[in-house]
Amino acid sequence: MAHSAEALLADLVGFNVLPGAANGTIADYVRNYLAGHGVDCAVLPGPEGDRVNLFATIGPKDVPGYVLSGHMDVVPVEGQVWTADPFRLTDLGGRLTGRGATDMKGFLACVLAAVPLFKAASLKRPVHIAFSYDEEIGCRGVPHMIAELPELCVPPAGCIVGEPSDMRPVLSHKGKQAVEITFTGKAAHSSQPALGENALYPAAELLLFIRDLSAKMEAEGPFDARFSPPSSTVVAGIVSGGSAVNIIPDLCRLAFEVRSVPGAAPQDVSAKVLAKLDALMAQAQAEGRALSASWQELASYPALAPTPDAGFIALMERLSGGEAIQSVSYGTEAGLFQAAGVPSIICGPGSITRAHRPDEYILREELAACMAMLERLAAELAG
Ligand SMILES: [Zn+2]
Repeated sequence: MAHSAEALLADLVGFNVLPGAANGTIADYVRNYLAGHGVDCAVLPGPEGDRVNLFATIGPKDVPGYVLSGHMDVVPVEGQVWTADPFRLTDLGGRLTGRGATDMKGFLACVLAAVPLFKAASLKRPVHIAFSYDEEIGCRGVPHMIAELPELCVPPAGCIVGEPSDMRPVLSHKGKQAVEITFTGKAAHSSQPALGENALYPAAELLLFIRDLSAKMEAEGPFDARFSPPSSTVVAGIVSGGSAVNIIPDLCRLAFEVRSVPGAAPQDVSAKVLAKLDALMAQAQAEGRALSASWQELASYPALAPTPDAGFIALMERLSGGEAIQSVSYGTEAGLFQAAGVPSIICGPGSITRAHRPDEYILREELAACMAMLERLAAELAG
């Protein structure tokens, strides 16, 4: 069985497991690998029925330890031009290239490669391996694992989320919620608009409300100077509706996304948009118009605030050899672990700038730097 991080990465890249789909292949691989090293792994099926989170503990189970958190899914390659097969790890001039090499199978490979090390270290405090599914469509898998955390282990001392951060500890990011609204009106011939109900117009009113709400937040805050822009934002990203210019459109979809600074829930901003939606619909109903609307959440995760645990920050700086960064613009599962009471810091190999792009790659020295961090973690927990 493969043991080096690079060999493990090659195996992991071979699993074309996308979010929103079954992940039994990669989960079985990880579980078998752990079993081969005498590590029991809890397989935690999500409500979807065809995908699972994985949780394993190495070391004593009755004392707090550290969670090593990563996601097993990768974003699709559709529409991208790759130099080589994205699901086969290929060395392109020293760049280990493949989908997920950086985001974030490189980290998973290092964690698995470190398992024999953790086993041999006679740990006095445990490490927990927490691998999730469906992260790339809004952290949908990991909440089911976090909900079971109290049964899986004593409250952890900290969680290291191995998203690519060039091996520097990252302390915070914004939260996010994406919402899709569907307006339903009534179709009619365009020559008789009074016989129909145009679904585009209420969407237009809501669009302008969203624009003004974002401008208000950008002007009035709340502000967090660690971010650029320093305020929460809300943007409409998709509007679609209507099929012909001579038909009153009976359907319109509008999707918007909130990015909120730590301390403000993205749902609080969405609630203002949805309150405006309610008001528009109440008005339509009062006027006896055939208009209705429904909405659904597409994705959400809470912001990550800097952990108040200065000892954990110092530990991560020592283990990684990198100075902590205050904030990043991307989101992770770290906010969800933090919301569950687990101090959380992002630290992983490779650069986020390569994530989700064609010819995504990681360098051997980046894998080596992550292995060094995990070796120092093992030594720390053995001491
Ligand atoms: Zn990721």
